[in-house]
Amino acid sequence: MDKNPSKTILVVDDEPDIVNLTDKILKLASYNTLTCNNGKEALKIIEDRYSEISLVLLDLMMPGVSGMEVLRTIKSNDMFKHILVILFTVKSFKEDIQKGKEMGADGYITKPFSGKQLLEYVNSVFETH
Ligand SMILES: [Mg+2]
Repeated sequence: MDKNPSKTILVVDDEPDIVNLTDKILKLASYNTLTCNNGKEALKIIEDRYSEISLVLLDLMMPGVSGMEVLRTIKSNDMFKHILVILFTVKSFKEDIQKGKEMGADGYITKPFSGKQLLEYVNSVFETH
């Protein structure tokens, strides 16, 4: 399966298990991946490599620079706003989902998720955008 050989996805989460699982699944589906575990590093990677990044899988709850701040930076900058953003959220945080949508998030995935769910959702976001 290599229908997306040119798409690069940045995975940002402060939980290493989530990053590792997500990275593995995306690579198996022939996506290129970049990973980091905080918002500050995410902003640096986006600044350096925005032209090659198609999608960011972004945790909202991180110490330091929050996912919401990263989302705001992406969607308010003409150079970055082509990048799709899917938020990793926790089910009980309905206000975050609403706020994320208002700020231009392209979708969200509720934790915990399976590899299959993740991949199907990522593929569907690419198909509909
Ligand atoms: Mg987190």
